[in-house]
Amino acid sequence: MAKDFQAPRGFHDILGSDLKKFRRITSTIRELLKRYNYEEIITPVVEFAEVFERSIGEATDIVQKEMFVFTDRKGRRLALRPEGTAGVVRAYIQNRLYALRPYHKLFYEGPMFRYERPQAGRYRQFHQIGVEVFGVAEPHADAELLRLADDILKALGISATLEINSLGCKVCRPAYREALVEYLHVVANHLCDVCMDRKDRNPLRVLDCKVETCQEAVKEAPKMVDFLCDECRYHYARLKEYLSELGVSFRENYNLVRGLDYYTRTVFEAVSDELGVAVIAGGRYDYLVEEFGGPPTPALGFAVGVERLMLLVDEPPKDYELYFVIPFGDVHSYALKVADILRRKGKVVELSYRKGGLRKQLELANKLSADYAVIIGEDEMREGVVSLKDMRTGEQRKLKVEEI
Ligand code: ATP
Ligand code: MG
Repeated sequence: MAKDFQAPRGFHDILGSDLKKFRRITSTIRELLKRYNYEEIITPVVEFAEVFERSIGEATDIVQKEMFVFTDRKGRRLALRPEGTAGVVRAYIQNRLYALRPYHKLFYEGPMFRYERPQAGRYRQFHQIGVEVFGVAEPHADAELLRLADDILKALGISATLEINSLGCKVCRPAYREALVEYLHVVANHLCDVCMDRKDRNPLRVLDCKVETCQEAVKEAPKMVDFLCDECRYHYARLKEYLSELGVSFRENYNLVRGLDYYTRTVFEAVSDELGVAVIAGGRYDYLVEEFGGPPTPALGFAVGVERLMLLVDEPPKDYELYFVIPFGDVHSYALKVADILRRKGKVVELSYRKGGLRKQLELANKLSADYAVIIGEDEMREGVVSLKDMRTGEQRKLKVEEI
């Protein structure tokens, strides 16, 4: 095939068994979200680039190197969304949802775009299902959010560890940041090139650099938890109590910072025990709505990476019986009617479009994993019956369609 007609690098088709996994994941999560009474929102795939730059943060990896930015015909800078939260926050304000109710629980599902180096479970177009809660500051909301993340993992049979941390707030983070920068200067000659650059612009990110020398260098770094103000300390302590009371197990990770600037207080990741990478990630962003020009609105949320979960779940078992209707000769109007009646009875029916003899037809029936072949020849049509063949036992008998 001509190179031009391949999907671009990092973009992929989802089909067959993969798509079944994909749908299993999204429908399982949607089912759970219904139980928590989340409401869906669909936001555009494209926003003004600034929506992401200002919220995610100028100094972050996503904004620095991962965004698909382009100008439209009028020269406006637009971007394919790299994540869901910024757009939902923009929509929350633009649609004045804050005026409707004291708080909101929203969820979204759709493709996200990041210019990254593709590898297993990492693409340039990938899919997330995410939730956002607006208007609640108290830690019971954080606890319920983590319960939901835990429910999702359990429902999909995925073993993962919930890692949590607190990043503090406007009051306590600046002093921590200062202490951290000071420390990073001391260990600077052990940092990788990227972290040398990060240590002043985005110092918290150095804490979760994957390079070994950096990990070694930050072992003795000051910890945010030791700098939390009274309110943040209380918030974090209550969250941990609620989680323990709910029986949600978690692990504190003092180096968990997340790659986006907007987080405050609670941050968390569900790290797959099998893959060692995050499959769900999120946290609080108490100032973001205000920074977008909305009223002060504490908020929190998380995003589930669908492709990452696809590496971990099994294809769901087939949960229906397939009837494969095979017409022989000039019986198409009768065959169409038979298929119709069966579908009206709630059966899953495929009318064979294949031409050819019984052997070839049954071969196709097997390929489609049909449970029954409904054989219709001119005899059957005249008698007003069908020959029903059980594909598993091979047993075959004539009966009226209504008797199926
Ligand atoms: P990572 O550290 O793996 O790059 P991230 O911190 O950039 O993840 P988030 O922005 O928090 O990821 O997105 C939430 C989830 O979305 C991640 O935990 C992951 O499962 C998934 N995800 C992120 N980037 C990609 C990608 N390029 N391809 C597929 N899934 C992704
Ligand atoms: Mg990333």
